[in-house]
Amino acid sequence: MLPFKIVYHEKYDLNLGEHVFPSQKFRLIAEALLKEKIASTADFVQPPPANDEDILRVHTADWTRKLKTGTLSHSEVMLLEVPYSRELVDAVWLATGGSILAAQNALRDGFGINLGGGFHHAYADHGEGFCAIHDVAVAIRRLEAEKAIEKAIVVDTDVHHGNGTAAIFQNDGRVFTISIHQENNYPAYKPPSTVDLHMMDRADDHEYMAALMPAVESALEEFQPDILFYIGGADPFCEDQLGGLSLTKHGLMERDRRVFEEARRRGIPVVTALAGGYARDVQDTVRIHINTVIAAREVALQHPHVPLSRD
Ligand SMILES: [Zn+2]
Repeated sequence: MLPFKIVYHEKYDLNLGEHVFPSQKFRLIAEALLKEKIASTADFVQPPPANDEDILRVHTADWTRKLKTGTLSHSEVMLLEVPYSRELVDAVWLATGGSILAAQNALRDGFGINLGGGFHHAYADHGEGFCAIHDVAVAIRRLEAEKAIEKAIVVDTDVHHGNGTAAIFQNDGRVFTISIHQENNYPAYKPPSTVDLHMMDRADDHEYMAALMPAVESALEEFQPDILFYIGGADPFCEDQLGGLSLTKHGLMERDRRVFEEARRRGIPVVTALAGGYARDVQDTVRIHINTVIAAREVALQHPHVPLSRD
């Protein structure tokens, strides 16, 4: 039994067929966690879909309506880079509900894991790069609306810059954003995060951690967030088809563990979402995401959660 809940729904699958985005990975991760006895069925919880009130705290009414009614323009579908379907919309609303639930779980348990989401390329008024709705931003706005948090930090380790996150929180002093990514990669335009760590092509485990950890430590020290959202991309992996960094599986797990440790030893709740992963062999992507759950378990056992009274 895990010391936290895993939020997952079998309808997270984005219905993409033979697309570079392996949307079956969500199911493969859930199945492997059970098969390898890392988790039991009692550790899993199903999220409700996000409600539109949640979505509209981040997204424009126009973009929300277009998604719900299937009235995206041709250029909007091109920018999204995934075919539009009703199943896609249902999956995105569920994954967003999943990030909200995982965030609420994190405040209660110290950790909350969504086996989906991390759609960090979504902007308020349009979708990009496989991301239609910014689930992490929606979850942050929901916790703010519930007065459950005042300040949040987003640590985005996907190999691609967190452009949607940066744009949504650009003028928001209560949300600190860190993106560590490959500089010579999508998206071409990178609006500034609070801290951007632009990595050179083929950067390895050592170079990556030497950039990431001082930034995370000083942000936690100075900003003192109430919660850390971790966008745990599997695509900095050396064999990723859409990435150009050279991290190993071991290095990626160490990355997760170190970020979690820095947060948890300060008593900061951690919520994780998956984001990208396009390894030639989908089993590598699955393994990297499973390792994130194992790293969370190790750190959760070392740093048990003591819920803070907020009154
Ligand atoms: Zn990515």
